[in-house]
Amino acid sequence: MKIGIMGAMPEKIDSIHALMSDVETIERGGRIYHIGKISGKEVVLVFSRWGKVASATTATSLITEFKIDHLIFTGVAGASNPDLNIGDIVISKCLYQHDMDARPLMPRHEIPLTGITFFKADSILIGKASAAADKLLATLSEKIPVSMLEKFSIRSPKFILGTIATGDQFISDREHTAAIMAEKPETDAVEMEGAAVAQVCSDYGISFVVVRTISDQAGHTSELDFPLFIKEIARLYSEHMVKNMLDEEESITESGACEAAAALGV
Ligand code: SAH
Repeated sequence: MKIGIMGAMPEKIDSIHALMSDVETIERGGRIYHIGKISGKEVVLVFSRWGKVASATTATSLITEFKIDHLIFTGVAGASNPDLNIGDIVISKCLYQHDMDARPLMPRHEIPLTGITFFKADSILIGKASAAADKLLATLSEKIPVSMLEKFSIRSPKFILGTIATGDQFISDREHTAAIMAEKPETDAVEMEGAAVAQVCSDYGISFVVVRTISDQAGHTSELDFPLFIKEIARLYSEHMVKNMLDEEESITESGACEAAAALGV
């Protein structure tokens, strides 16, 4: 059993790489794949790059060339749900592509020729990610200096199982977020890779989960020191989430392919 780990930030890759043993590195298509073990489990770690095409081609390589069985994606996202704060975690329940629009051929947001609008993450991986988030958030002040948590106003961070909207746009103005929410009010977070990776996993029958740390409020907050946030907060979140998910005694067992949740909210 091999687990693919994709990260959307190079800094996160470095931190997760430090957890690995027996590492072999292979370059393909402009990506660097690190093959090795974490807590005795075989993993392949790679930086996805940003956007739908980059992350989809990377996911395809992980599946077809590196033969992964499960995929964990870790990155940051903007919150569209007003109850979410910087430092909260969103674990994907469902993902869709907010910029997909093949009308009048297909309904808004439906992926052409699939009948699918929402991709559903794997329930076992969601459970593992939830347990990992619980553990991380309960001991956060031991992992990240309190002064740094204060700097980003991270006071009582939480995790939710939510709906993630993916598109080839960095969402940084309120109007854009409002337009996405007007069409799908259940959207919790916006990012640029998740539902593309989910589409590839759906095509190949690979189970997956996407875990996102909220880095911004998609146009609703003032400027954040993004590089500092990645270095001091998001990097550590990803490292501990992956470690906690893979540390568990029981293995990530076969839990069925991700199913299309075409009926959900469409
Ligand atoms: N602004 C950053 C770059 C963000 S890079 C900088 O200055 O370095 C884009 C990554 O952030 C992608 O992986 C994307 O998925 C994620 N992301 C975070 N917030 C986002 C938002 N509001 N809209 C879209 N993608 C976001």
